[in-house]
Amino acid sequence: VSVDSTPLEVEGLRRTFGGIVAVDDVSFDVERGTLTGLIGPNGAGKSTTFNLITGMLEPDAGTVRFNGEEITGYQPHEIANRGLVRTFQIARELEEMTVLENMMLAPKGQAGESLWRSVLPVTRGDVRKQETDQLERVWEVLDFFEIDHLADEYAGNLSGGQRKLLELARALLTDPDVLLLDEPFAGVNPTLEKRLLEHIHELRDRGYTFLIVEHDMDLIMNNCERVIVMHQGRILKDGTPAEIKESEEVIEAYLGG
Ligand code: ADP
Ligand code: MG
Repeated sequence: VSVDSTPLEVEGLRRTFGGIVAVDDVSFDVERGTLTGLIGPNGAGKSTTFNLITGMLEPDAGTVRFNGEEITGYQPHEIANRGLVRTFQIARELEEMTVLENMMLAPKGQAGESLWRSVLPVTRGDVRKQETDQLERVWEVLDFFEIDHLADEYAGNLSGGQRKLLELARALLTDPDVLLLDEPFAGVNPTLEKRLLEHIHELRDRGYTFLIVEHDMDLIMNNCERVIVMHQGRILKDGTPAEIKESEEVIEAYLGG
Protein backbone atom coordinates (compact mmCIF):
# COMPACT_ATOMS: atom_id res chain seq x y z
CA VAL A 1 0.00 0.00 0.00
CA SER A 2 1.57 3.24 -1.08
CA VAL A 3 1.22 6.11 1.29
CA ASP A 4 0.86 9.21 -0.77
CA SER A 5 0.66 12.62 0.88
CA THR A 6 -1.91 13.53 -1.77
CA PRO A 7 -4.01 10.37 -2.05
CA LEU A 8 -6.65 11.86 -4.33
CA GLU A 9 -5.86 13.93 -7.40
CA VAL A 10 -8.56 15.06 -9.80
CA GLU A 11 -7.56 16.74 -13.04
CA GLY A 12 -9.65 18.34 -15.76
CA LEU A 13 -12.80 16.36 -15.01
CA ARG A 14 -15.70 17.05 -17.35
CA ARG A 15 -19.11 15.47 -17.63
CA THR A 16 -22.12 16.51 -19.67
CA PHE A 17 -25.71 15.30 -19.64
CA GLY A 18 -27.25 16.10 -23.01
CA GLY A 19 -26.64 19.81 -23.37
CA ILE A 20 -25.88 20.39 -19.67
CA VAL A 21 -22.26 20.68 -18.60
CA ALA A 22 -22.59 19.33 -15.06
CA VAL A 23 -18.84 19.26 -14.35
CA ASP A 24 -16.51 21.48 -16.31
CA ASP A 25 -12.70 21.22 -16.09
CA VAL A 26 -12.64 20.40 -12.38
CA SER A 27 -9.20 19.91 -10.80
CA PHE A 28 -8.28 19.57 -7.13
CA ASP A 29 -6.20 17.49 -4.73
CA VAL A 30 -7.11 16.06 -1.38
CA GLU A 31 -4.29 15.92 1.14
CA ARG A 32 -3.79 13.02 3.50
CA GLY A 33 -5.25 13.31 6.98
CA THR A 34 -7.50 16.24 6.18
CA LEU A 35 -11.19 16.96 6.27
CA THR A 36 -11.74 18.56 2.88
CA GLY A 37 -15.13 20.06 2.12
CA LEU A 38 -16.69 20.30 -1.32
CA ILE A 39 -19.47 22.85 -1.21
CA GLY A 40 -21.62 24.80 -3.63
CA PRO A 41 -25.22 25.76 -4.30
CA ASN A 42 -27.75 23.22 -5.58
CA GLY A 43 -26.87 22.05 -9.08
CA ALA A 44 -23.23 23.14 -8.77
CA GLY A 45 -22.00 19.69 -9.81
CA LYS A 46 -20.95 18.29 -6.42
CA SER A 47 -22.73 14.95 -6.65
CA THR A 48 -21.65 14.47 -10.25
CA THR A 49 -18.01 15.09 -9.24
CA PHE A 50 -18.44 12.61 -6.41
CA ASN A 51 -19.90 10.02 -8.80
CA LEU A 52 -17.07 10.55 -11.29
CA ILE A 53 -14.47 9.99 -8.56
CA THR A 54 -16.13 6.82 -7.23
CA GLY A 55 -16.72 5.25 -10.65
CA MET A 56 -20.50 5.59 -10.61
CA LEU A 57 -20.22 7.80 -13.71
CA GLU A 58 -17.66 7.96 -16.50
CA PRO A 59 -16.10 11.32 -17.30
CA ASP A 60 -16.10 12.79 -20.81
CA ALA A 61 -12.61 14.06 -20.05
CA GLY A 62 -10.12 14.25 -17.20
CA THR A 63 -8.41 11.88 -14.82
CA VAL A 64 -8.74 10.65 -11.26
CA ARG A 65 -5.65 9.36 -9.48
CA PHE A 66 -5.70 7.50 -6.19
CA ASN A 67 -2.43 6.95 -4.32
CA GLY A 68 -0.58 7.60 -7.54
CA GLU A 69 -2.58 5.16 -9.66
CA GLU A 70 -4.88 6.35 -12.40
CA ILE A 71 -8.32 4.91 -11.63
CA THR A 72 -10.37 6.84 -14.21
CA GLY A 73 -13.16 4.66 -15.57
CA TYR A 74 -12.63 1.85 -13.06
CA GLN A 75 -15.69 0.04 -11.72
CA PRO A 76 -16.98 1.26 -8.34
CA HIS A 77 -15.91 -1.95 -6.55
CA GLU A 78 -12.40 -1.74 -8.04
CA ILE A 79 -12.11 1.78 -6.67
CA ALA A 80 -13.54 0.82 -3.26
CA ASN A 81 -11.15 -2.16 -3.07
CA ARG A 82 -8.25 0.25 -3.38
CA GLY A 83 -9.44 2.12 -0.30
CA LEU A 84 -11.35 5.03 -1.88
CA VAL A 85 -14.68 4.39 -0.23
CA ARG A 86 -18.01 6.17 -0.31
CA THR A 87 -20.88 5.70 2.10
CA PHE A 88 -24.11 4.17 0.85
CA GLN A 89 -27.61 4.79 2.08
CA ILE A 90 -29.08 1.73 3.79
CA ALA A 91 -30.94 -0.08 1.00
CA ARG A 92 -34.58 -1.02 1.44
CA GLU A 93 -33.89 -4.73 1.88
CA LEU A 94 -31.33 -3.95 4.57
CA GLU A 95 -33.89 -1.98 6.55
CA GLU A 96 -35.50 -5.30 7.43
CA MET A 97 -32.25 -6.54 8.91
CA THR A 98 -30.74 -5.63 12.23
CA VAL A 99 -27.83 -3.26 12.69
CA LEU A 100 -25.57 -6.23 13.47
CA GLU A 101 -26.69 -8.08 10.32
CA ASN A 102 -26.08 -4.93 8.27
CA MET A 103 -22.56 -4.78 9.64
CA MET A 104 -21.87 -8.47 9.02
CA LEU A 105 -23.03 -8.05 5.40
CA ALA A 106 -20.82 -5.02 4.77
CA PRO A 107 -18.19 -5.72 2.11
CA LYS A 108 -14.94 -6.70 3.78
CA GLY A 109 -11.81 -4.75 3.17
CA GLN A 110 -9.10 -6.33 1.06
CA ALA A 111 -6.19 -4.08 1.81
CA GLY A 112 -3.39 -5.82 3.66
CA GLU A 113 -2.79 -2.92 5.95
CA SER A 114 -5.55 -0.94 7.47
CA LEU A 115 -5.77 1.89 9.88
CA TRP A 116 -8.40 0.04 11.81
CA ARG A 117 -6.32 -3.13 12.03
CA SER A 118 -3.44 -1.16 13.39
CA VAL A 119 -5.70 -0.59 16.38
CA LEU A 120 -7.25 -4.06 16.44
CA PRO A 121 -4.74 -6.66 15.26
CA VAL A 122 -6.19 -9.34 12.98
CA THR A 123 -4.38 -12.66 12.81
CA ARG A 124 -4.37 -15.11 9.91
CA GLY A 125 -6.28 -18.33 10.29
CA ASP A 126 -9.10 -20.48 8.98
CA VAL A 127 -12.50 -19.24 7.86
CA ARG A 128 -14.05 -19.65 11.28
CA LYS A 129 -11.28 -17.61 12.81
CA GLN A 130 -11.83 -14.93 10.18
CA GLU A 131 -15.53 -14.86 10.98
CA THR A 132 -14.76 -14.48 14.64
CA ASP A 133 -12.36 -11.68 13.81
CA GLN A 134 -14.97 -10.04 11.59
CA LEU A 135 -17.52 -10.19 14.39
CA GLU A 136 -15.01 -8.78 16.84
CA ARG A 137 -14.21 -5.97 14.46
CA VAL A 138 -17.90 -5.26 13.88
CA TRP A 139 -18.42 -4.84 17.63
CA GLU A 140 -15.34 -2.67 17.89
CA VAL A 141 -16.68 -0.35 15.17
CA LEU A 142 -20.23 -0.34 16.64
CA ASP A 143 -18.73 0.53 20.00
CA PHE A 144 -16.62 3.31 18.45
CA PHE A 145 -19.75 4.93 16.99
CA GLU A 146 -21.70 4.30 20.23
CA ILE A 147 -24.39 2.32 18.44
CA ASP A 148 -23.55 -1.08 19.96
CA HIS A 149 -26.74 -0.88 22.06
CA LEU A 150 -28.69 -0.77 18.77
CA ALA A 151 -27.16 -4.00 17.43
CA ASP A 152 -30.47 -5.92 17.52
CA GLU A 153 -32.57 -3.01 16.25
CA TYR A 154 -33.92 -3.16 12.72
CA ALA A 155 -32.09 -0.66 10.51
CA GLY A 156 -35.48 0.58 9.31
CA ASN A 157 -36.28 1.75 12.85
CA LEU A 158 -33.20 3.97 13.21
CA SER A 159 -33.44 7.76 13.26
CA GLY A 160 -31.87 9.74 10.40
CA GLY A 161 -28.74 10.38 12.43
CA GLN A 162 -28.39 6.81 13.64
CA ARG A 163 -28.60 5.67 10.02
CA LYS A 164 -25.77 7.99 9.07
CA LEU A 165 -23.66 6.51 11.88
CA LEU A 166 -24.44 3.01 10.60
CA GLU A 167 -23.58 4.03 7.02
CA LEU A 168 -20.22 5.36 8.19
CA ALA A 169 -19.67 2.27 10.37
CA ARG A 170 -20.30 0.00 7.36
CA ALA A 171 -17.88 2.02 5.25
CA LEU A 172 -15.18 1.65 7.90
CA LEU A 173 -15.37 -2.13 7.68
CA THR A 174 -14.10 -1.98 4.09
CA ASP A 175 -10.65 -0.75 5.21
CA PRO A 176 -10.89 2.69 3.66
CA ASP A 177 -8.01 5.08 3.23
CA VAL A 178 -10.04 8.01 1.90
CA LEU A 179 -13.74 8.33 2.75
CA LEU A 180 -16.15 10.24 0.54
CA LEU A 181 -19.32 11.43 2.20
CA ASP A 182 -22.19 12.96 0.21
CA GLU A 183 -24.31 15.12 2.49
CA PRO A 184 -23.64 13.05 5.63
CA PHE A 185 -25.57 15.48 7.82
CA ALA A 186 -28.81 15.60 5.82
CA GLY A 187 -31.78 14.79 8.07
CA VAL A 188 -29.60 14.51 11.17
CA ASN A 189 -30.72 16.23 14.38
CA PRO A 190 -28.24 18.67 16.01
CA THR A 191 -27.26 16.29 18.83
CA LEU A 192 -26.36 13.46 16.48
CA GLU A 193 -24.76 15.90 14.03
CA LYS A 194 -22.36 16.92 16.79
CA ARG A 195 -21.58 13.28 17.57
CA LEU A 196 -21.12 12.41 13.92
CA LEU A 197 -18.70 15.31 13.58
CA GLU A 198 -16.76 14.21 16.67
CA HIS A 199 -16.37 10.72 15.21
CA ILE A 200 -15.22 12.12 11.88
CA HIS A 201 -12.66 14.34 13.62
CA GLU A 202 -11.42 11.38 15.67
CA LEU A 203 -11.04 9.22 12.56
CA ARG A 204 -9.18 12.04 10.84
CA ASP A 205 -6.83 12.17 13.85
CA ARG A 206 -6.21 8.44 13.37
CA GLY A 207 -5.10 9.12 9.80
CA TYR A 208 -8.20 8.70 7.69
CA THR A 209 -8.81 11.28 4.98
CA PHE A 210 -12.26 12.71 4.23
CA LEU A 211 -13.84 14.47 1.29
CA ILE A 212 -17.22 15.75 2.43
CA VAL A 213 -19.83 17.03 -0.01
CA GLU A 214 -22.25 19.44 1.66
CA HIS A 215 -24.51 22.31 0.83
CA ASP A 216 -24.39 23.63 4.42
CA MET A 217 -21.57 26.15 4.11
CA ASP A 218 -21.23 26.99 7.82
CA LEU A 219 -20.87 23.36 8.81
CA ILE A 220 -18.02 22.85 6.34
CA MET A 221 -16.36 26.16 7.20
CA ASN A 222 -16.33 25.27 10.90
CA ASN A 223 -15.02 21.74 10.52
CA CYS A 224 -12.82 21.41 7.45
CA GLU A 225 -9.26 22.65 7.11
CA ARG A 226 -9.68 22.93 3.38
CA VAL A 227 -12.69 23.97 1.35
CA ILE A 228 -13.37 23.66 -2.37
CA VAL A 229 -16.27 25.70 -3.71
CA MET A 230 -18.09 24.68 -6.88
CA HIS A 231 -20.48 26.80 -8.88
CA GLN A 232 -22.12 25.99 -12.20
CA GLY A 233 -19.91 22.98 -12.77
CA ARG A 234 -16.62 24.73 -12.10
CA ILE A 235 -14.27 25.28 -9.19
CA LEU A 236 -14.93 28.78 -7.98
CA LYS A 237 -12.47 28.84 -5.09
CA ASP A 238 -10.17 26.42 -3.28
CA GLY A 239 -8.54 27.32 0.03
CA THR A 240 -8.75 27.53 3.80
CA PRO A 241 -12.07 28.52 5.40
CA ALA A 242 -10.60 31.98 6.09
CA GLU A 243 -9.67 32.40 2.43
CA ILE A 244 -13.10 31.21 1.30
CA LYS A 245 -14.89 33.61 3.65
CA GLU A 246 -13.04 36.57 2.17
CA SER A 247 -13.88 35.62 -1.40
CA GLU A 248 -16.22 38.04 -3.13
CA GLU A 249 -17.03 35.45 -5.81
CA VAL A 250 -18.14 32.90 -3.22
CA ILE A 251 -20.36 35.38 -1.43
CA GLU A 252 -21.88 36.38 -4.76
CA ALA A 253 -22.44 32.78 -5.86
CA TYR A 254 -24.26 31.94 -2.64
CA LEU A 255 -26.35 35.10 -2.56
CA GLY A 256 -27.02 34.89 -6.28
CA GLY A 257 -28.11 31.23 -5.88
P1 ADP B 1 -25.19 19.21 -6.84
O1 ADP B 1 -24.90 17.87 -6.25
O2 ADP B 1 -24.11 20.20 -6.61
O3 ADP B 1 -26.51 19.76 -6.41
P2 ADP B 1 -25.37 17.76 -9.36
O4 ADP B 1 -24.03 17.21 -9.61
O5 ADP B 1 -26.39 16.84 -8.81
O6 ADP B 1 -25.26 19.06 -8.43
O7 ADP B 1 -25.95 18.36 -10.70
C1 ADP B 1 -25.22 19.23 -11.56
C2 ADP B 1 -26.03 19.51 -12.81
O8 ADP B 1 -26.12 18.32 -13.59
C3 ADP B 1 -27.45 19.94 -12.55
O9 ADP B 1 -27.82 20.87 -13.54
C4 ADP B 1 -28.24 18.67 -12.69
O10 ADP B 1 -29.55 18.94 -13.07
C5 ADP B 1 -27.47 17.95 -13.78
N1 ADP B 1 -27.54 16.49 -13.66
C6 ADP B 1 -27.00 15.75 -12.68
N2 ADP B 1 -27.21 14.45 -12.88
C7 ADP B 1 -27.90 14.36 -14.04
C8 ADP B 1 -28.42 13.27 -14.83
N3 ADP B 1 -28.26 12.00 -14.43
N4 ADP B 1 -29.07 13.55 -15.97
C9 ADP B 1 -29.22 14.82 -16.38
N5 ADP B 1 -28.76 15.89 -15.71
C10 ADP B 1 -28.11 15.68 -14.56
MG1 MG C 1 -25.90 16.72 -4.79
